[in-house]
Amino acid sequence: MSTQTCRECHRSTSEPVAVALEHVASGPGHIVYLCAVCQFALGLVPLDEHPADSLGFPALHGRRPETERQRG
Ligand SMILES: [Zn+2]
Repeated sequence: MSTQTCRECHRSTSEPVAVALEHVASGPGHIVYLCAVCQFALGLVPLDEHPADSLGFPALHGRRPETERQRG
């Protein structure tokens, strides 16, 4: 796989992880890449591990979105 720029930290990575498809109004969507560090830190599921019916939106490992909204 070729070098990509991480969407999160904007560094070039030789081991990009595709985590989502970015949907655009016209033309094909873009694949969103993260470096392995950011992919792990954000807890995003790699795109190739998404369910077959996934639309390509970012998915979190074993987390429900509500837990992200807790406030201290
Ligand atoms: Zn990164």
